[in-house]
Amino acid sequence: MTIIAFIGLGNMGSGMAANLVKAGHDVRAFDLSETALKQAEEAGCLIAGSAAEAVRGAEAAVTMLPAGTHVTSVYEGDIFAAADRDMLLIDCSTIDVATARKVGGEAAERGFAMVDAPVSGGIAAASAGSLTFMVGGSEGAFKRAEPILSAMGKAVIHAGETGAGQAAKICNNMLLGATMAATCETLAMAEKLGLDAQTFYDIASVSSGQSWSLTSYCPLPGVGPKSPADNDYQGGFAAALMLKDLKLAVDAARSVDAPVPMGALAGQLYQMVVNGGRGGRDFSAIIQMLAEKEG
Ligand code: NAD
Repeated sequence: MTIIAFIGLGNMGSGMAANLVKAGHDVRAFDLSETALKQAEEAGCLIAGSAAEAVRGAEAAVTMLPAGTHVTSVYEGDIFAAADRDMLLIDCSTIDVATARKVGGEAAERGFAMVDAPVSGGIAAASAGSLTFMVGGSEGAFKRAEPILSAMGKAVIHAGETGAGQAAKICNNMLLGATMAATCETLAMAEKLGLDAQTFYDIASVSSGQSWSLTSYCPLPGVGPKSPADNDYQGGFAAALMLKDLKLAVDAARSVDAPVPMGALAGQLYQMVVNGGRGGRDFSAIIQMLAEKEG
């Protein structure tokens, strides 16, 4: 059993913290939201009055926060001052690579072992304990983080040094955003060309057009395995979060002069999805926008 501080118990963090409790860890939770804290208490976490109180005396801290500004303020404002120097710090939030490197560097200067460990998988995977963790940090920090992350996920992969977890996450999600957009426009076009949706699915899923977006997460209801499309595009990975990740990816690409025309175009398309009022729907709902358009 490890004493673990968990900060940020929203859609993702609540399920992740519950899985740490189920694995036998002593979890001390803090969130700014009373509702989130109440839910964490029901899942068996001990409630702390602040992030500093949560980390005091803990052996590890896990953060699952909205963006880089929240991560900076929680680490610089509370964790670095209150945590014991031998404590392991794990940030699972999806944030920009530059902030991950900055906060990781500050942790190292203070003598902490820290990893950036963003996840692939949405709210259902967080509850089921089947997330994939992409981890950036030293070999030693990775080895310490692995058993804790394994209690919340199905795969824990060391991506490289500090910031490499975030780099892997945004590269993966840029690929996903672009393939989902391409899959959706293709399915919409196939229908307009008179192809039966199930027949085209059967063909493409065993042909060179096959992709995860098509065969594991088909954006059409009633076709392929169950996906958010079968639930009116609710309960998956929100289009607004895909837009957030595409913006992070395009910014990161710019910082290293990597040309990403497909990623940038996917970002523009997801901006249109959000502007059109579908930001809260699953990201596969981009098919609704693409099917509506005249051409
Ligand atoms: P969320 O908004 O539901 O939860 C974030 C929580 O952090 C909220 O409960 C909020 O009150 C809390 N918080 C914010 N500032 C705080 C502070 N200073 N101190 C304590 N608590 C604070 O977000 P989420 O959907 O759980 O996503 C969390 C992270 O995971 C994001 O970085 C997101 O990009 C990433 N992510 C989300 C999904 C998804 O499907 N939702 C999938 C993969 C990755």
